Amino acid sequence: MSREELRKLPSVDELLKTETLKPLIEEYGHDNVVEAVREAMDQARKHILAGEPCPPSERLAEDARALLLRWLSPSIRPVINATGVIIHTNLGRAPLSAETRAAMEAVARGYSNLEFDLEQGRRGSRYVHAEELLTRLTGAEAALVVNNNAGAVLLVLSALARGREVVISRSQLVEIGGGFRIPDVMRQSGATLVEVGTTNRTYLRDYEEAITENTAIILRAHRSNFRITGFTHDVPLEELVELGHRHGLYVMDDLGSGALLDTSRYGLAHEPMVQESIAAGADVVCFSGDKLLGGPQGGIIVGRREIIERLKRFPLTRALRVDKTTLAGLQATLLHYIKGEAEQKVPVWRMMAAAPAELKRRAQRWARRLKRAGIEACVIEGRSTVGGGSLPGETLPTWLLALSVPSPDAAARALRSYDPPIIARIEEDLLLFDPRTVFPEEEETLLRGIVAVLTTKTPRHEEK
Ligand SMILES: *Cc1c(COP(=O)(O)O)cnc(C)c1O
Repeated sequence: MSREELRKLPSVDELLKTETLKPLIEEYGHDNVVEAVREAMDQARKHILAGEPCPPSERLAEDARALLLRWLSPSIRPVINATGVIIHTNLGRAPLSAETRAAMEAVARGYSNLEFDLEQGRRGSRYVHAEELLTRLTGAEAALVVNNNAGAVLLVLSALARGREVVISRSQLVEIGGGFRIPDVMRQSGATLVEVGTTNRTYLRDYEEAITENTAIILRAHRSNFRITGFTHDVPLEELVELGHRHGLYVMDDLGSGALLDTSRYGLAHEPMVQESIAAGADVVCFSGDKLLGGPQGGIIVGRREIIERLKRFPLTRALRVDKTTLAGLQATLLHYIKGEAEQKVPVWRMMAAAPAELKRRAQRWARRLKRAGIEACVIEGRSTVGGGSLPGETLPTWLLALSVPSPDAAARALRSYDPPIIARIEEDLLLFDPRTVFPEEEETLLRGIVAVLTTKTPRHEEK
């Protein structure tokens, strides 16, 4: 039986001539289409040997087409973030301002003066580009931008403390997520970790007693993603600076999120700001470019000129260097702060600043629109979070579109396979969509996606 069925399989050439595959040869090239056809035939052969009948040629061609499109479509693509988590690391952290995107596009398109001194007509340094804006904004003497903040911390520790000791409070030995752990980075850098104090309370004398001739740095690390409450004590940065400088040590602050604006004006806790760390006397401060700063991925180091100059010459810096698009994007983002327009222009701050009344209006508009399509929806009060290793446990009041569906997990999965994927949140069996993280220009697509997914059994793709 199966041998007879196997003989019915068409030849590769026959399939390549079908209306389904012919146009694909033009677009993707002969070899890629042939490979997909072979793979589809292999699968069909296995099914036939398992007792199934030979599929019609058109089915085989369709299977080959689906395989080809899956192989050749980019795996990273835009999604709609309806979770209400503003800096969502899994969803790519900070969305960029229009000006930032334009600046990145401009240098990406052609050549730039990345490492070229236009005045002198000779080789320049890529590290000059964002430096002046960063020093103006933070009050630091000098600045350096590397690939990300994990790299920044590794670089500073390697350059300043290899073979020496770094003193840090036990309450700050954090794991940031994605496996970034302060003790591991310390080991990588060749520095020796000296833990002081206890999980909940660390005093100045704990630091003081740990200092030896071999100490290089007193490190403060921001507890980015958790909070310690109750019977606690931390030493303020000013006191660490006073102690460190008295002993001829560097004081380093790993801030993580790198706020340049005050989060407390949105009813959130005060996230430590870069300017404050510099003003408190920290010698070197590290933070991410794509958390609260709201720019492209980057690790920003600001501090004393002598340290930054040392870092620029350190070999590891080359391995962590940023490309032209990062520097152009970072400059454009920093310019928003210089011009005092960050809250209007930088998406993460605009999202934080969004008024609950406006969020409610948007959610209500969504609900009305879905009702017209026969989907029961309501609008409920909820909370958005900032995310991205900042303001742990802090939330912003919001209004959510809430859908009560038979299987929220299945619906969420179907929404994720929509094109573009829609990422919702499930709480207490309700499927929730937070307008705070959905851009107005995405609303139409979002609503069309919800309607398509909830009114059909199989997830459909948006018609282009
Ligand atoms: C996020 C964070 C890091 C790592 O920064 P990346 O930009 O993700 O490399 C390091 N330290 C702290 C305190 C952080 O919050």
